[in-house]
Amino acid sequence: MNDAPPVKEPIVCSRCGKTAEELPLTWTCSVENGARHYLCEECARENIRSIEGRLDSSWW
Ligand SMILES: [Zn+2]
Repeated sequence: MNDAPPVKEPIVCSRCGKTAEELPLTWTCSVENGARHYLCEECARENIRSIEGRLDSSWW
């Protein structure tokens, strides 16, 4: 682990790497193994599409 100062962490889309200072309402948050993952609006849409295609996704 690096020794980053306790600043407010930016929200990062775990799929495309897009960042936001605050969680936009259009973004999706999921929790896996205690870690939070965010998806931006575009990636969430793509993710939903892939979930509909195959229901074995580990996202949900
Ligand atoms: Zn994204």
